[in-house]
Amino acid sequence: YTKKHSKNSFSLFSHELNKEIADKLTIERELKSAIRNDEFLIHYQPIMDLAAGKISAMEALIRWNHPELGMVPPDRFIPVSEESGQIIAIGKWVLYTACSQTKQWQQQGYAPFRICVNISTIQLQHPNFVQLVKGILEETGLEAKWLELEVTESILLEDTETLKESLLSLKALGISMSIDDFGTGFTSLNYLRQFSFDRVKIDRSFVQDINQDLSGKAITSTIIALAHKLGMEVVAEGIEDSVQLSYLVNELCNEGQGYYFCRPKSADQHDLLIMDK
Ligand code: C2E
Ligand code: MG
Ligand code: MG
Ligand code: MG
Repeated sequence: YTKKHSKNSFSLFSHELNKEIADKLTIERELKSAIRNDEFLIHYQPIMDLAAGKISAMEALIRWNHPELGMVPPDRFIPVSEESGQIIAIGKWVLYTACSQTKQWQQQGYAPFRICVNISTIQLQHPNFVQLVKGILEETGLEAKWLELEVTESILLEDTETLKESLLSLKALGISMSIDDFGTGFTSLNYLRQFSFDRVKIDRSFVQDINQDLSGKAITSTIIALAHKLGMEVVAEGIEDSVQLSYLVNELCNEGQGYYFCRPKSADQHDLLIMDK
């Protein structure tokens, strides 16, 4: 039994592993032509001002509309593009497209909101990144104060002097910075403050736990209170129901996003009536 069984499970395992490697190679190869073939698009998800009940920002979330694979979610191709270096070109496309769409919304007369763009560590470490951001703001005509870059905590594990310098030059452009998925890594809020982050986004796993147990409530309210004491604002990710929302409003969380308000969708699918003109 054991011999046969282990042999089978080994071949099953190696079959799955081969498939995973093959998929990854396909994705890496096809990514090369994705920009050229215009296969990327951005879905935008509103971030609400919880006290005012109005949109205060939009997060840009990339999608890949592959001719055979269909809609490929970012978790499947962003890590591959980071390994291959393709994230540099993809990230540039996202930044340019999101800034130019936001400028367009402003020109159409909608009350302005921030555009939040996810940036990978590889991009932030690229020597020309600050110049790139500056150039895109100039080209699109978007004022720096409407752009926010979201980075994850892993960035803070990097070489701190160079990192501090890039963050300071980015801040000097007048844009804002936030920490995404906060609470899943090992950073303290005080450390974030030293790097002059403006906002902390509470990871959606904690927001989901608000309904589950006392620790979800304890963790979210502690993050909110401490971030506020250190002069940072707080955004809650992944709000899916009114129980989570009222808890967060009560704890004075500044902003929130999630399916409860709106799913991410393309610019022209947004019901622009929810934005004030
Ligand atoms: P993220 O930045 O934390 O983005 C939030 C994710 O949560 C999005 O997944 C969004 O669709 C999802 N979400 C929003 N509200 C809810 C909710 O109420 N419930 C649930 N269950 N999920 C919700 P998405 O779009 O699949 O993106 C996944 C991740 O991919 C992002 O996580 C971000 O880390 C990365 N990503 C997306 N676009 C880009 C990009 O342009 N560049 C880079 N470097 N990374 C990106
Ligand atoms: Mg994000
Ligand atoms: Mg997040
Ligand atoms: Mg996430």
